Amino acid sequence: TRRVEGKVALVTGGASRPGLGFAIAERLAEEGAIVILTDVDAGGVAESARLICERNLAAEAMVHDVASEADWTRVVEDILGRHGRLDIVVNNAGILDIAAIADDHALAGLRRQLEVNVVGCFMGTQAGVRAMRACGNGGAIINLSSVAGKVGFRGSASYAATKGAVKLMTKSVALETAAEGIRVNSVHPGIIRTNMQQQGLEDNSANYDAIVAGIPARRLGDPRDIANCVLFLASDEAGYVNGAEFVVDGGYTAQ
Ligand code: NAD
Repeated sequence: TRRVEGKVALVTGGASRPGLGFAIAERLAEEGAIVILTDVDAGGVAESARLICERNLAAEAMVHDVASEADWTRVVEDILGRHGRLDIVVNNAGILDIAAIADDHALAGLRRQLEVNVVGCFMGTQAGVRAMRACGNGGAIINLSSVAGKVGFRGSASYAATKGAVKLMTKSVALETAAEGIRVNSVHPGIIRTNMQQQGLEDNSANYDAIVAGIPARRLGDPRDIANCVLFLASDEAGYVNGAEFVVDGGYTAQ
């Protein structure tokens, strides 16, 4: 049997291709979930859902700004109204703003990232817990942090502030919901080939070989590497995994 058969899953930030949200949605759908992909990019998320449906898997798209409380209410009410349940929430939407601490734009970048990466993830976790409680079947919430939520990187002060927040928010919520079978875990990707990183790598293209040489696995991550970890956490196989940090980085932070 498939690993998340019949579960209803919400994945935010699903428009980007290559992107983690799309890869996660594909993997959950391959294992039997009905996946609702959401994003601020209406055309992109519709195309992501179409590509999954084309493979005779179950996917839908919704326009959704994770930084909007009204959007969260609308999206979750719509899902519960049409599917009657919500089992999996993946808070994946996020933005990256690289800035040295003394840069003029660093503070504005921090504020934007806080709204999407922290407030968005908080509202997604809150909406997920409320919906899962109302259904009474337990559930799994997976929050995308980063290796930048574990160790320091130059130029990442503001991004790291948001990803460290996601990590510890996740653990505190897990304590509140564990007895109800609602599991809340964080995933910490290393450098994965997506639109987010391709921009970062182009900026540093001279450093590309140095970046790969610094990764013990000697390669960048593939979105499927992250999707497989999220699938495990979403499935009943992870029934005793709660409040945990899953690093998927080719060994980078083991050094
Ligand atoms: P990406 O930039 O390729 O895709 C992010 C998606 O989020 C885009 O489709 C974008 O439109 C959407 N988005 C942005 N703001 C939004 C908002 N307010 N509401 C709804 N959607 C919004 O990024 P990615 O590489 O796929 O990253 C996904 C997640 O993984 C992010 O949280 C990121 O911080 C995290 N992460 C990525 C890497 C990596 O190497 N790619 C590493 C560590 C952590």
